[in-house]
Amino acid sequence: MSLVEQLYRLQQIDLELQGKQQELNDVGNRLSDDKDLVAAESKLASQKEQLEDARKKQKDSEWELEDLQDKVRKIDSKLYSGTTKDSKELVNLEKEVKGLKSQIRPKEDALLGLMSQVEEIEAEVKTTAEEVERLKREWEQRQETLGQRKREIETMLAKLGGDRDRLAQQIDSEVLNTYERLRLTRGQAVVKVERGKCQGCHITVPTSQWQKAKAGDLIQCTSCSKILYLE
Ligand SMILES: [Zn+2]
Repeated sequence: MSLVEQLYRLQQIDLELQGKQQELNDVGNRLSDDKDLVAAESKLASQKEQLEDARKKQKDSEWELEDLQDKVRKIDSKLYSGTTKDSKELVNLEKEVKGLKSQIRPKEDALLGLMSQVEEIEAEVKTTAEEVERLKREWEQRQETLGQRKREIETMLAKLGGDRDRLAQQIDSEVLNTYERLRLTRGQAVVKVERGKCQGCHITVPTSQWQKAKAGDLIQCTSCSKILYLE
């Protein structure tokens, strides 16, 4: 392998390393991304709070209604037991029971409203709980497949890293420095010459130059400074 061929191969390995590293980062991000699950869990928690609140209101309303019915029953029994003879008192009791009875219907309506509210929230909680379960399963599955992919990429990276080290050891350190500098400043260090043109800047390469490059000499494009490579 000529020096330029070695550099070209080195660049291919570096590009592959870069791509794999990017993929590894992406996999890592996806592995730690549990936004949807966290959001669903927090939604479930708040719906459960709402449900608890609604159930408490329902209980309170049931007690109020029972209390009211109890009072009515007591007065009714007083009225109909015949123990109260005083007509004025009877009139007062009747008035009182009428007033209490008139409160029962609205209380019953309110209770029905609260009961249907509880049912509604119960249904919401059920839906969200199912959603949380689904997202959890998906997350676990993702951990498994992505975790496997992560290990695969890490193995590939280790192999590529080894390949790179072995190749780099064969290249003169000054040439390597030129290569690294070009990669850093130009994004690409080695470019092909196709139909007599530098593929880095598309300028026509003088014949003498590309002939030297073809022979394996290290020739940099006079225009873009990249190392010229001919297969
Ligand atoms: Zn060029």
